[in-house]
Amino acid sequence: MQTVVSQRNRMEAVLSSMLEGVIAVSRDERILSINPAAARWFDLDPEKVRDRSIPEAIRNLAIQKFVMRSLKSRAPVEDDVVVYRNGERILNIKSSPLLDVGPEPIGILIVFNDVTQLRRLEDMRREFVANVSHEIKTPLTAIKGFVETLHHNIVETPEEARRFLAIIARHVDRLNTIIEDLLMLSRIENEGERGAIQRETTRLRDIFQNAVQICRPQADEKRIRIELAGDEGLEALVDPVLLEQAVVNLLDNAVKYTDTKKTVRVLAQAVNDEIQIQVQDQGIGIEDKHLPRLFERFYRVDKARSRAQGGTGLGLAIVKHIAQAHGGHITVESRLGEGSRFTIHLPRDPEQVSS
Ligand code: ADP
Repeated sequence: MQTVVSQRNRMEAVLSSMLEGVIAVSRDERILSINPAAARWFDLDPEKVRDRSIPEAIRNLAIQKFVMRSLKSRAPVEDDVVVYRNGERILNIKSSPLLDVGPEPIGILIVFNDVTQLRRLEDMRREFVANVSHEIKTPLTAIKGFVETLHHNIVETPEEARRFLAIIARHVDRLNTIIEDLLMLSRIENEGERGAIQRETTRLRDIFQNAVQICRPQADEKRIRIELAGDEGLEALVDPVLLEQAVVNLLDNAVKYTDTKKTVRVLAQAVNDEIQIQVQDQGIGIEDKHLPRLFERFYRVDKARSRAQGGTGLGLAIVKHIAQAHGGHITVESRLGEGSRFTIHLPRDPEQVSS
């Protein structure tokens, strides 16, 4: 008797500790046993629900259908079902025949896992691959067209041939930029996750000056003034190469999306326990509805305008990942027709910061 009780207790302890939901269902769809994880999903009391039928206990049509299908099958069955519990969640359910001493199964054993996050990541990956393919295909199609025209000698004059070659070169440059941005993004993601960025105490003003130098030609062309403001001596423990890239991306956008003769301001300041780096423009601004998606890869407010300016739609995603690799984040405030302000927030390291 003692052995039987202790074996049963051990069995229950195992089932109770499982993160996966486990339900044993009889051939006539009654609950034989349910572990606490499964009971929590459907707000059930594991003690009281024993012997109740599945349609009565679990008011989810997809799960009821899954149970019926599994009971008819002699092989394992697997599916994803949607359950509403604090919002929409996706459960991956697997069933297998429940065997006793006899040859016939006495029911089925169902095991399920919350795979919401996993499926979301899979969707993001699929969407990302589709976006990359599309972005790469557009210049490739153009290159192929012009190369074929040149190859078949359809071109009338050497000037026309030169013009075509210039177009091909432009598309090759574009492909190059996309690939460079993608490589940069994956490098930052990897280094950020491993905590492998190369931090050193750096004066932020030095980073700004380098970034301004890189963006100067485009700014001069539009007669846009770039103003450096804030705390001149502020230092931070950052990866100077990555942070310069982030400021260049923000400055480049500020110049791209601002009309001539306006001012762009770059500023560093220490606020409470963080260091803020701001790039503010008086440009076209961004409608509120776009703001939540702005930092997604390939998201653009105006596709045609961004492409015409040589944008890849990856600039802000790179900035976001650089901020995250430093343990920080990025925010944006913007008003249509008035301008935008992007702020990188970095955690302040009290020992390394002086002002
Ligand atoms: P892109 O290469 O297209 O500039 P980004 O990731 O840098 O890609 O920016 C995404 C989109 O956000 C841009 O296409 C543009 O529509 C919008 N955007 C970014 N910065 C600004 C800004 N300073 N002013 C207005 N719109 C901006």
